[in-house]
Amino acid sequence: APAIVLDRVGKTYAGGVRALDDVSLTVPRGAFLAVMGPSGSGKSTLMHCAAGLDTPTSGSIRIDGHEIAGLNETRRTELRRERVGFVFQSYNLVPSLDLADNITLPLRLAGRAPDRAWLEMLVERVGLAGRLTHRPTELSGGQQQRAAIVRALVTRPAVVFADEPTGALDLRSAHEVLRLLRELVDELGQTVVMVTHDPAAAAQAHRALVMADGRVVETLDAPTAPRLA
Ligand code: ADP
Ligand code: ADP
Repeated sequence: APAIVLDRVGKTYAGGVRALDDVSLTVPRGAFLAVMGPSGSGKSTLMHCAAGLDTPTSGSIRIDGHEIAGLNETRRTELRRERVGFVFQSYNLVPSLDLADNITLPLRLAGRAPDRAWLEMLVERVGLAGRLTHRPTELSGGQQQRAAIVRALVTRPAVVFADEPTGALDLRSAHEVLRLLRELVDELGQTVVMVTHDPAAAAQAHRALVMADGRVVETLDAPTAPRLA
């Protein structure tokens, strides 16, 4: 099954705002998808519904072949913990926990034992092997976001959702984080869906969707903004 399939997904908020207007889309495994569009166009709503954080008003959403649109909150949370990883603009690391405990938190929430070899490979890969006993505040923004990427990957999720992952970073750290995401896609076959305002970020993706008024109004394959060095 593809990582994500949305079939005519609609979302109308209480008050009547039509945030998603029958969106259909398939994200194959191993694909890197960027979602763009102006503020208020429905990007967050799309991501929240596709990730099982929120429920659509209509339509079908399958993650890794599992329908989530009709699930109650408990089942949806289980499925999300099992199959989805998240990266946020503001990292969302727990300040009182060291890096080792932060990155293994999703495993504890899912009641799963860590796969040591996978964890060590990821930590090594993002250059944080020497930082595992540090608290988040002792790390740079770029290091915190790289830790958040490891946290998103520890459960080997079917898909990682990244919400403006470079929005709080300086240019150099932003490039590092984007290159890392791209490598995880290219080398580990990780599926990534990234919401971004930044054309340079979208240029790292295989495909970019542009949203307006709750619809996908443009699809760009191999978006052509300059590739990162
Ligand atoms: P489509 O039928 O949607 O054009 P294809 O299956 O022909 O898609 O795939 C064309 C290329 O685009 C493939 O490399 C595929 O991995 C990539 N691709 C297809 N859909 C997406 C998507 N939603 N996000 C990112 N890349 C995609
Ligand atoms: P984007 O992420 O592109 O900025 P959103 O998905 O946040 O867009 O919002 C799409 C539309 O839905 C906007 O008109 C927004 O005001 C509205 N909206 C978002 N969240 C809510 C909510 N919880 N309640 C009511 N309206 C909302």
